[in-house]
Amino acid sequence: MKKVGFVGWRGMVGSVLVDRMKEENDFNNINSFFFTTSQVGMMAPKISNVDNVLLDAYSVKALSKMDIILSCQGGDYTEKVYLALKKENWEGHWIDAASSLRMADESVIVLDPINESTINNALNNGIKTWVGGNCTVSLMLLAIHGLLKVGAIEWVSSMTYQAASGAGANNMKELLVQMGELYSSAESEIKKTNFSILNIDKMALNKMHSSDFSKENFQVPLAGNLIPWIDQDLGEGLSKEEWKGQLETNKILMNDYEKIHVDGLCTRIGSMRSHSQALTIKLKKHYELTEINDLIKSANNWVKLVPNKKESTIHNLTPAAVSGSLDIAIGRIRRLALGDNLISAFTVGDQLLWGAAEPLRRMLQILINKDK
Ligand code: NAP
Repeated sequence: MKKVGFVGWRGMVGSVLVDRMKEENDFNNINSFFFTTSQVGMMAPKISNVDNVLLDAYSVKALSKMDIILSCQGGDYTEKVYLALKKENWEGHWIDAASSLRMADESVIVLDPINESTINNALNNGIKTWVGGNCTVSLMLLAIHGLLKVGAIEWVSSMTYQAASGAGANNMKELLVQMGELYSSAESEIKKTNFSILNIDKMALNKMHSSDFSKENFQVPLAGNLIPWIDQDLGEGLSKEEWKGQLETNKILMNDYEKIHVDGLCTRIGSMRSHSQALTIKLKKHYELTEINDLIKSANNWVKLVPNKKESTIHNLTPAAVSGSLDIAIGRIRRLALGDNLISAFTVGDQLLWGAAEPLRRMLQILINKDK
């Protein structure tokens, strides 16, 4: 059995990946080894075939014994360790959740329901670096897969509403802590039967602006607020998250679909898990709405079309509705009054599953099954 080393397994993406692998019994087909950047020598998770202590994630010697390394540790780690392994002529496969290697010539961005043939060709051509796509990109492509298949799209504007967990475990916890602090700041007024809503508002706002409000990770309040900037400032008013949307989409589509233009603004909101996106889509020609709905809902096994009605939307097209499932919900599809062949759509998917862990889990399976 292949030796597979896991790095970053206790973070947000890594722990969701381990859960999915347990659900699918994937650990039965590999020898698994768990690495850490901070807890060397401590107990590894109790999973069959596992070495029972945590190994040093910076030890090139220990890592180079692996046939496959799957990292959910983050870009800084990848930048340090991937090159060190390559220098040692390590010949194994590297699977990664971080963005650092996505645009490298030697890598493929993996999202097999969309680009399975690209993955298979790359595998046959000796490629060994497999990177999961940006979460909103992967979720959007699965949602509009049906329109991509028939080459219907000229451009897409994606305005995102991204969950706190997209920034990692500590940020997700910080959102809840912030919520608690806001509640506590106004609790005395909330509990009055003749409460003043303006007093509640003022107390919460004062708390948000106070120096003791917890914001070590987000730097600013997210609870009761939003942050219309995600990732680095690339200059010219562009965030790195927005840049990824434009470039990664077409790297994934490159060999099998027509190129599309993608742009928009990315915003962090106070949802816990699952990213949402409001899409404006310019179609190349007129399509009936029934045809658009049919194309979308039959494209893959995970897309779920939500009828554009209030009741179905508020119950089924939200982060709370899809979190923890592999469903990619898409709804609010209607013709926009702004010009010809323009439609709207709203899509929500669990960014920790299809937006991160699931494409990596499936890539690992492709590698394991290939050599069976
Ligand atoms: P994360 O939750 O911050 O975890 C990363 C590492 O932080 C863990 O492996 C762990 O490493 C360490 N860590 C420190 N304190 C921790 C704590 N209290 N709980 C858990 N882990 C803790 O990061 P992530 O969100 O999983 O992201 C990992 C990579 O995936 C990043 O490159 C990110 O950009 C990418 N990604 C994330 C998402 C997402 O939705 N979060 C989606 C797509 C891609 P040690 O055990 O070695 O200390």
